Amino acid sequence: SLKPTTHYITKNDVIPMYQSRNKWDHKGTYGHSLIIGGSFGKIGAVTLTTKAALKIGSGLVSAYVPKCGYNILQISIPEAMVEVDSDKLLTHYNFKTKPSVIGIGPGMGTAEQTAIGFEKFLKNNKIPLVIDADAINLIAQQPTLIEYVPEKTILTPHPKELQRLVGEWKNDFDKLEKVISYSLKHNVLIIIKGAHTTIVDGGFLFVNSTGNPALATAGSGDVLTGIITGFIAQGYSPLKAAIFGVYLHGKTADIALQKTSYETFTSSSILEYLPDAILDLF
Ligand code: AMP
Ligand code: MG
Repeated sequence: SLKPTTHYITKNDVIPMYQSRNKWDHKGTYGHSLIIGGSFGKIGAVTLTTKAALKIGSGLVSAYVPKCGYNILQISIPEAMVEVDSDKLLTHYNFKTKPSVIGIGPGMGTAEQTAIGFEKFLKNNKIPLVIDADAINLIAQQPTLIEYVPEKTILTPHPKELQRLVGEWKNDFDKLEKVISYSLKHNVLIIIKGAHTTIVDGGFLFVNSTGNPALATAGSGDVLTGIITGFIAQGYSPLKAAIFGVYLHGKTADIALQKTSYETFTSSSILEYLPDAILDLF
């Protein structure tokens, strides 16, 4: 019954979105991303997200992780600042830094203490958000939490997370209708990930043209979350950050296939090919 306006995202759409840099800019010009996530055994997820926010150009990047992630992050990402929570889980969410945007969820887990802390965090937070992975699962478990997110918050569910969030669908039309309703009701952007990733902004759908099954690999979505968060830090609107981020993320995999194979492309390869994906615009 809902009639969405659909647009297919190509290079011509993203070129005019690109924000060039000025000689007198400094790191403060490009914002501060805070990446929140990780739990014992899943520090890699939040590491990938943090690396991606840096790689796309966020001026400063902080990570807020359980204590067990401290050395891992400091050693693997010297550019990032790190604050810590409890030993193996996120429970307190009492970071001191004042970021311009927060990307939250990768590797976070859904432990009860994590859920309790997350609820307090959402109820007190006013900073723009990109919500991914277990943070989506926690909202799906406690649906009223969505009422506390800032307007135009971005949610980046993969198919299973989406199903937990909006409920099971009968077919693709029913799925779209459920996602559009959720987006309209809560004034959030939803990125339906997969082949032809689709960004839903109320009654507007933006369907991506880039990407291939090389991206079907562990950590791929964690990198996307970092790219989108890093774009918002630099002043891109949530919608532009989502469209541009999804386009570039897919483009890395398309370019990579000229040199590597589907199988040997990993989530770290997304970051490796990000320069080529950006240079391809010009
Ligand atoms: P996640 O499951 O959270 O790691 O996210 C997977 C990421 O890889 C998303 O950005 C998907 O759009 C992308 N992806 C997965 N499979 C495909 C595919 N067959 N074609 C294009 N992109 C894909
Ligand atoms: Mg994911």
